[in-house]
Amino acid sequence: MKEHLKNDSVNISHLLDIIKKQGTEYLNALADRPTSINNPFVPEPVNLPEYGHGTEETIKIFNERFEPIMVGASGPRYLGFVTGGSTPASIAGDWLTTIYDQNPKSGKGQGDISANVEFEAIKLILELLELPDSFLGGFVTGATMSNFTCLAVGRQWLGKEKGRDIAKEGIYETIKVLTATPHSSSIKSLSLLGMGSNNIIKIKTDGNDREAISIKDLKEQITTLDNEPFILISSGGTVNTVDFDDFTEIKKLKEQYNFWWHIDAAFGGFAACSEHYKHLVEGWEYADSITIDCHKWLNVPYESALFLVKEQYKVLQVETFQNSNAPYLGDPLDNFSYLNFLPENSRRLKALPAWFSLMAYGKEGYRDIVENNVSLARNFGRLIENSNDFKLLAPVRLNTVCFTLKDDTKQDEVGKFLEILNNTGKVFMTPTFYNQHNGIRAAFVNWKTNETDVQLIFDMMNSTIEQLK
Ligand SMILES: *Cc1c(COP(=O)(O)O)cnc(C)c1O
Repeated sequence: MKEHLKNDSVNISHLLDIIKKQGTEYLNALADRPTSINNPFVPEPVNLPEYGHGTEETIKIFNERFEPIMVGASGPRYLGFVTGGSTPASIAGDWLTTIYDQNPKSGKGQGDISANVEFEAIKLILELLELPDSFLGGFVTGATMSNFTCLAVGRQWLGKEKGRDIAKEGIYETIKVLTATPHSSSIKSLSLLGMGSNNIIKIKTDGNDREAISIKDLKEQITTLDNEPFILISSGGTVNTVDFDDFTEIKKLKEQYNFWWHIDAAFGGFAACSEHYKHLVEGWEYADSITIDCHKWLNVPYESALFLVKEQYKVLQVETFQNSNAPYLGDPLDNFSYLNFLPENSRRLKALPAWFSLMAYGKEGYRDIVENNVSLARNFGRLIENSNDFKLLAPVRLNTVCFTLKDDTKQDEVGKFLEILNNTGKVFMTPTFYNQHNGIRAAFVNWKTNETDVQLIFDMMNSTIEQLK
């Protein structure tokens, strides 16, 4: 063993102490960290060292070169991309994930059995979201991969309905995919899956001021399909206005017609945590597959999302994801192994941060996070409604506020306004385009955000407007 590695291994306690101290300092000052950096100085890339520096010196090098440009993306005023922060318990779970370095595949037998943690985390999430245990779930990197996984099983289902095994034979004709306001990652999944991002059949929304699917138009489109099986991608929280398709109505259609029903509920699914908002997802348990993102409202570190596919489609799922030419992996249906159920073969124990956070804060903890974020979004929405310079582009349905400059003749300045605002480093929001308007989206998902933050953000917006005048 070379010297640096040997020393590091002896000094592991000291090294972890340094990281603990640095991590604690970072977290305690997170609210003051800039939420974005304007034209950061990015150091020139280094060359691979011949002998290495050892870990302690490497920490110093990192701190000199990159630490100053780390932004407060998990802080309370980062309102971009509907991503949450990390709860203390999830950080603990994440550290241990690295330390134990498991590769969860199977829940029993010889070798690694950490998949039991994953099974348990999924059980806890189903309970949190009040979903039945008829779903088989697994952890993937994000909602994009979850949509991909769910739609891949849907694709296999559709082939089977027509007597074809698409996983083996490939796509043989255009697959009909119906959707109203899909997230871009579902469209991306269609291109990855060979289904073609151009091939969606766009269903109207339920009126001009809605992003939810029009059930009337959906019915009409279904009738023209002449009993051909299809895939429906529906929304459990759209990213602009957090609109929800009417799942109770879709469930009724499912009793009548033959289709695969996928719900992208990446963050909106967490509405189920609260008595006040759970009606938004009523009927979602009848879907064939659901996407849930954990690095959003569950507030665990990045690379954590869940696919949920009805267990009755287990065979289809294995047909899609099995490692069929690796005899040493055994019969995928006899020996459950995650590597036959999802895109990756080797994975880290992604479930552990979620497991920690769910055990640490429970149902009540998450209900509180969700309700607090919604109430902050509503208050922020009220400030906007009552202001002279801004207006809402949609009602605040849940946790996201979609707004623009009040004066429509200033539409060209929305981008500039957002740039100046984000450059303050005090808040981060993302641009959007909604209802023929350049808009701005503020998503409240972080457990740390409070009323003071909302007021500070609104003050920053007002002073930014003054600069534009
Ligand atoms: C964020 C989001 C996604 C994509 O999630 P990633 O975790 O970035 O892959 C998909 N669908 C919806 C509705 C989302 O909000």
